[in-house]
Amino acid sequence: MTELTEITIVKETLEELYLEKKNSAIQIAKKFGVGRTAIYNKLLKNNIKIRSKSEAVKLYWDNLEDHSVRSFKHTPEQIEKMCKYQNKPESIKRKKRQANHLNSIEMISKRVKIIKEKFNDPIYREYRSNIIKKSYTQERKDRISKKLKGKPKTEDHKRKISIGHKGLEHTKETKKKMSEFHLRPETIIKYRLLMEKKWEDPEYRKQNTGLNHSCWINGDSFKPYTYFFNTALKKKILKRDNFRCHFPNCQRKEDLCVHHIDFNKKNCTPINLLTLCRKHNIKINYNRKYWKLYFKKLNFQRLGIKNSLEPFLEVYCY
Ligand SMILES: [Zn+2]
Repeated sequence: MTELTEITIVKETLEELYLEKKNSAIQIAKKFGVGRTAIYNKLLKNNIKIRSKSEAVKLYWDNLEDHSVRSFKHTPEQIEKMCKYQNKPESIKRKKRQANHLNSIEMISKRVKIIKEKFNDPIYREYRSNIIKKSYTQERKDRISKKLKGKPKTEDHKRKISIGHKGLEHTKETKKKMSEFHLRPETIIKYRLLMEKKWEDPEYRKQNTGLNHSCWINGDSFKPYTYFFNTALKKKILKRDNFRCHFPNCQRKEDLCVHHIDFNKKNCTPINLLTLCRKHNIKINYNRKYWKLYFKKLNFQRLGIKNSLEPFLEVYCY
């Protein structure tokens, strides 16, 4: 066969058929009564570039005269058969199993890990960002935002987002944007109303008070103060601290109260006491470890006491 083709097909005819008329290799092979591979070999020998698969597919759809293939529709009998198959309990179970497997935390975190590793490469990051910049024009963004506005996210969607965002840090610009958004009066009012609605529900109140509260430490706040923590001592401490709040970047002179740095109500030595405004005294109850160390250091620096004296100063007043 190969010998025959070498004789019959000349380079010029090949170029005419393949490049100008844009016939496929199979069509040419049919004309000459040979196999497809023989034509490919001939093309390679004559230094003619073979089309890629995507190019070939595009050509096929462009040259298609009979459009019945494009608007292909299943017959009603076929549709009935397919529906029967899809509604089988076995196939439904299989679909559910597949979905559960794909949406499990392990699988999502695996996928996220692969993507994060890819994005650590600066070349890949640039490549992806260029694609996104090209494809997401302003018009398209507006269209998407219009469609998604006011649509609540499902619980599953939220869970996936939270897994994807784990371990990532916001840039300074986004932090600034977020803080600006959260300090708008509209958002403040909106979230306050939402919280009020939530607190009206008795079950929500049960879940977020008392033993179930995230800051519950053996009912510490209900324990009484000692006899030594009286108004005279408080006045002394306020005078020492120039009647102002000592939280970083806060200098309020109203609504002041005296704070136990140690979070121990029985430890009333003056080094363990500091004046704070009411707002910051509440804020400190979150992330207690950090604030304990921070104010300890601050008081030692302010009052000019060396760290070596620390163990002797932790005297408990009962
Ligand atoms: Zn303050």
